[in-house]
Amino acid sequence: MAKRGYQPERTCLGCGARERKAELMRMIVNGAGQLELAGQGQRGGYLHRRPECWSGFVSRKNHFRAFRVEVAKAAKEQLLRDLKDRVGA
Ligand SMILES: [Zn+2]
Repeated sequence: MAKRGYQPERTCLGCGARERKAELMRMIVNGAGQLELAGQGQRGGYLHRRPECWSGFVSRKNHFRAFRVEVAKAAKEQLLRDLKDRVGA
C-alpha cells in the first residue's frame, strides 16, 4: 500500500508510467544539447532506474515536451552509456 501523505509523481520517459518522484532519476538537457543527470535546475525529464526504461527512452523518437527541446539520438545514447557506468547495469 502507498504511504499516507502527498507523493509527487512524474512520468517515466522510458515506459510512460507514472511513478513517485523519489523512485525516478531526473535529467536535463544542458547547454551543449547533451543529457545529464541533475537533481534540480531547468526543466527535466524522469526515468526509472531500470535499463529497460533507458533503452525505451533512447529508442523513442517523439519530441520530449519535458525538455522543451529536441533531444538528439546521440545525446540519448550517450546518456545510456553514462547511466550504465554510474548505476552499473
Ligand atoms: Zn519506466
